[in-house]
Amino acid sequence: MTELGKTQFTHFETNPFAPRTVLREALGLTGCEISINVLPAGSAIPFAHTHKENEEVYVVLAGSGFFWLDGTVSPLRAGDAVRVDPSVERCLKAADGEALIYLCIQAKRNGTPQVTREDGVVIRKEIMWS
Ligand code: ZN
Repeated sequence: MTELGKTQFTHFETNPFAPRTVLREALGLTGCEISINVLPAGSAIPFAHTHKENEEVYVVLAGSGFFWLDGTVSPLRAGDAVRVDPSVERCLKAADGEALIYLCIQAKRNGTPQVTREDGVVIRKEIMWS
């Protein structure tokens, strides 16, 4: 088993033609999956899907489009964040005229034992930036 470093940086050039960039391997993630997704204007993911155990959070970074959730269509725009339970059937479509760029964060439902506020530990030290 490979020992993971404590921090990992990866830079991805902005590429509007890259449909999906997965960060799990690039960053050595162990508790979630994060992907950066670009749906070209007017296009949709060609299938709906559910998950067995994982909930997903979709965060729209730019553009607009539509979320199909169990047959109900809702508009999406930059700034929206949507949690989707594993069993919900889902699909996304970009609006005509602009790409939909979003993050999808996937983690096991009920798999996080502590929320950030309870897990974070404040370190009282002066930070030297240069
Ligand atoms: Zn999914």
